[in-house]
Amino acid sequence: MSKKHVEIAGAGLAGMSVAVRLAQLGWDVVLHERNADLRAYGAGIWLWENGLKSLEIIGAYDAAVTRAKIIKEWRLVDEHGDIMFSRPCLNDRFLLPPRADLYQSLIDRAVEEGVEIRTESRVAEVKPEGVLVLENGEERPADLVIAADGAYSRLRHSLMATAWIDFGIEFGIRTMIGHEPGDPEDVVSEYINGRYRLLYNPCTDGENYIFLSAPMESDAARQVPVDRNVWKEKFPDLSHYIDRLTEAGRWDQIHNVRTRFWSSGKVALIGDCAHAMPPNLGQAANMAFTNAMALAAMVTDREDIPGALKEWEERQRPLTDHVQWWSYIYGMSLGKWPKKFMNFRTDAIQGLAKTKWFDRGLNRAARHIPVGYQPEKNT
Ligand SMILES: Cc1cc2nc3c(=O)[nH]c(=O)nc-3n(C[C@H](O)[C@H](O)[C@H](O)COP(=O)(O)OP(=O)(O)OC[C@H]3O[C@@H](n4cnc5c(N)ncnc54)[C@H](O)[C@@H]3O)c2cc1C
Repeated sequence: MSKKHVEIAGAGLAGMSVAVRLAQLGWDVVLHERNADLRAYGAGIWLWENGLKSLEIIGAYDAAVTRAKIIKEWRLVDEHGDIMFSRPCLNDRFLLPPRADLYQSLIDRAVEEGVEIRTESRVAEVKPEGVLVLENGEERPADLVIAADGAYSRLRHSLMATAWIDFGIEFGIRTMIGHEPGDPEDVVSEYINGRYRLLYNPCTDGENYIFLSAPMESDAARQVPVDRNVWKEKFPDLSHYIDRLTEAGRWDQIHNVRTRFWSSGKVALIGDCAHAMPPNLGQAANMAFTNAMALAAMVTDREDIPGALKEWEERQRPLTDHVQWWSYIYGMSLGKWPKKFMNFRTDAIQGLAKTKWFDRGLNRAARHIPVGYQPEKNT
């Protein structure tokens, strides 16, 4: 029997992971990337248990995390140094590799599995009957077409699948600093002062990942290379990190994408194209991996691809919606907390964080087991 054929638009983390899994399950896979080369921007990345299990399924885990620090705790710390909440990582994994390591591990696996990666190949349109159209006019029919072209997806628009895009109230700057003796090795600390945040992430033996976030209207804080004095004024006790900010970095606006549907006929939307979300829980790429595992499993050995895609959305979307909502609320409650109630913020969050409801809500995605995960085989 001839292999089923899939055409994928976009070789980011979502496109690459679904390409590997489909190839592993016997599909003939062509992956189109508009850029001339494959590269990952974004310093470090949070990988939770659900994302790590997905990487185990596709055999990318070892290479992805070989240099990563194993994190034991994530803390939110207020401007007085009080811990607002602490999320220990004792029974589940939380690892923090450089993005480039993660991405390279996926590229290597894609090549090993025989995925055909076409760079400088820009996709103009996807058609529900199962056709991917390149910008040069070439039409490429397939059993399955996947749009993985990111948050600003033109392919999602071409299907009229965008419900709304919320460009949010904050931006984020990601950068690396050198690791020095005395820097925490296994605790992620998110320091908050008003609407400003500095997130310290141990990453590798040589480098830490710093994430800075501030309100969109703060032009001074948005400068890259960063204006250290602006950040030192907000976080005087963290000058030892801020002084090490030497990389130019880049700022990204934080946004939220809501789609009307995740599939149309034989076309599926995946990753940020389907559900870009604020990075507050560090789950967007983890969810892309989890959804990629389910998608590949559910379309394989199915004749009715449109039906399988609808079932995939029904199965996966509630969890993704939940994570997207929690990420949004997390950012809004820190960023929009009314000034007159600021004195109560830490007490309120500490109280909330002690409830089972909060624990379940915050960690629901991390505790999800991806489709296709077999502990005896994958670990
Ligand atoms: C500040 C910040 C921090 C984050 N931290 C985390 C974290 O710690 N953990 C986590 O899980 N997630 C995190 N995320 C989210 C994560 O980065 C994204 O969810 C993930 O990178 C999305 O991958 P993607 O493949 O869907 O999209 P993208 O990475 O945007 O990839 C899309 C690809 O498609 C290509 N493309 C676009 N248009 C076309 C076209 N027409 N034809 C062909 N190719 C095309 C692009 O060139 C690109 O390579 C963070 C996001 C931000 C902004």
